Amino acid sequence: MFIIHGERFKKIYFGKIVSEPCDNCKFTTYSFYAIFKYIHMFFIPFGGAGKKRLLVCDNCKREYDEQELSDNKKHDLANSKIKIKTPLYHYTGLIVIGLSVVSFFIYALVAHEINEANYIKYLNSPMIGDYYVFDNEKCKIYEQNKTETNDKDKMNYYVLKLIALKKDQYIFNTAKNIYKSSYYAEKAIEENKNHKEFFYDNVGYIEKDKLMKFLLDNGLYIHRKK
Ligand SMILES: [Zn+2]
Repeated sequence: MFIIHGERFKKIYFGKIVSEPCDNCKFTTYSFYAIFKYIHMFFIPFGGAGKKRLLVCDNCKREYDEQELSDNKKHDLANSKIKIKTPLYHYTGLIVIGLSVVSFFIYALVAHEINEANYIKYLNSPMIGDYYVFDNEKCKIYEQNKTETNDKDKMNYYVLKLIALKKDQYIFNTAKNIYKSSYYAEKAIEENKNHKEFFYDNVGYIEKDKLMKFLLDNGLYIHRKK
């Protein structure tokens, strides 16, 4: 990719000082500037890269840059109490990036809340054919034999398919396979939707209240066909 970048300079006026006479015209009042160097990318400032002081004689306009400042001028400058403030403008790029990062987190948070609201909506208006994916290690709906397996390879995610509704009970088919993560479980649902042998023949049920609790405590993934 072609990136235009480099350094730019900006001269900003900070005030007047009185000091020893100008070498050129013997005038004693000077304008004080700071010259900021900043890095740009596509001409958007991405942070300061140093500054230099500059005095300009108010009469003859002779410029005294950092190296030319006599000890007396430096001293008078220090005593003037003029403060050099780096303009925020030089950090535009970084500020924009920072705001983007913050926006992303806010977006993720809101998306998460919407998701949770959706789950509750789904739970309250179940549809035959909904799939539920849950982490059995947290929900403990099924007994699992405690074989020592590598945490990484642990299969905890179960898939249920809602096949009937009773008053306060959800009746499910259970998938034969268990998955490593909700991602793999959801993928399996997509791939096996129409395969009858994806599920065990027998059915199970869970009380609605219990499901709700699983959802709020542990996160339960609900997959509804669109
Ligand atoms: Zn002068």
